[in-house]
Amino acid sequence: MTDAIDATENPTPRRNPKPETTKIAGRELKPSTLMMGHGYDPTLSEGSLKPPIFLTSTFAFPSAADGKRHFEGITGQRPGGAEGLVYSRFNAPNQEILEDRLAIWDGAEEALSFSSGMTAIAILMLAACKAGDVIVHSGPLYAASEGFVAKIMAKYGVTYIDFPAGATPEELDEVMKKAKAQAEEQGGEVPLIYLESPGNPTNALVDIEAVQQARDAHFDADRCPIAIDNTFLGPLWQRPLDHGADLVVYSLTKYVGGHSDLVAGSISGRKRFIDAIRALRNTMGGIVDPNTAWMLLRSLETVELRMQRAGENAEKVCAFLKAHPKVEGLGYLGLIEDERQQDIYNRHCLGAGSTFSVFLKGGEAECFRFLDNLKIAKLAVSLGGTETLASHPASMTHLSVPHARRQQLGISDSLVRISIGIEDADDLIADFEQALEHV
Ligand SMILES: *Cc1c(COP(=O)(O)O)cnc(C)c1O
Repeated sequence: MTDAIDATENPTPRRNPKPETTKIAGRELKPSTLMMGHGYDPTLSEGSLKPPIFLTSTFAFPSAADGKRHFEGITGQRPGGAEGLVYSRFNAPNQEILEDRLAIWDGAEEALSFSSGMTAIAILMLAACKAGDVIVHSGPLYAASEGFVAKIMAKYGVTYIDFPAGATPEELDEVMKKAKAQAEEQGGEVPLIYLESPGNPTNALVDIEAVQQARDAHFDADRCPIAIDNTFLGPLWQRPLDHGADLVVYSLTKYVGGHSDLVAGSISGRKRFIDAIRALRNTMGGIVDPNTAWMLLRSLETVELRMQRAGENAEKVCAFLKAHPKVEGLGYLGLIEDERQQDIYNRHCLGAGSTFSVFLKGGEAECFRFLDNLKIAKLAVSLGGTETLASHPASMTHLSVPHARRQQLGISDSLVRISIGIEDADDLIADFEQALEHV
């Protein structure tokens, strides 16, 4: 290769350089500091302190040789990926900055952004699997994820084996053995272990470290990544890559976006797996749009503040609810009653989060009276926004789950799911108190 086609000599204008360091004088900077500038060079954008939104579908090459070199990277003919921007289905400045900053939070090698959490999950599964393969997954999963595995992947000859979130090392060992046998029978492999922890809406935690041990005992770690949906606790309260996961999946729609005003998703983790997912995203599309990427950059500046405040609020609200005579129980990670779950929490979690379930005495009628009388908390699905939301999973998000499976997963008619926001905690408690009076 001659110097003339060395893109480092002729960098594509306005492509933000890969950030070189996250350190100052040997000190590793914290994510909350890096969110203000990491991966963005104002001198490439007229000195604009904040990145402009780049509304363009394509990027002009400085020379034909640069164009060729970029395509060699995009198509994988040369390792290392694209060195400049080519076309907005592959990447663009706002998305690059976002991906660099998302990787920081999880301590990941690389990150990818998507137009929704489900786009991320769907592309992950499609990239990992071929006909005959078996996906091993924890249960419960987000309903659309569970449906994607069971119904969509099934159309392509991919089957699954699931295990309950709290499974012990012995149970996990059995699950892996079963999956291996099933894959051999179908002429495939086990190319993906897919976790969600805590599970929605029960908050049951998966022992990621035990899953890694079971995976390593039965499969090649380089061919069978452990991916985990970290939407409920990430990026602040659970760092799955530190505990043996290879990939972390998010619905950025929730805590990371944090204002209930956008839909987006991401995957971050080990480069070798990210590369395969990026290749499929390049082909299919599904990258987040520049405007949403820009909004997420703003969100990332406050994600730590928002999550801390929401977490403190949830702790106060749960202390109130726990003592209330009309409350039967709580599914809150700050008040775990099961020894094994507490052990997983202690090893994996840095905070209890702000999304939990409350079991009221009674059933659907009592829950509906409670929900219909809330004045501050809004009656809506979703979570992780600045505002407090409440919903009834059995009749809403999990209505499509068969009754028997709902019972098995602990999604009873008396369960109300609450996502606490950043309002004043005492105002929230007053709201829950008056709504409970109507029950
Ligand atoms: C919302 C959610 C998803 C799906 O994300 P979208 O951004 O709505 O596509 C996936 N997993 C969990 C745990 C979620 O809460």
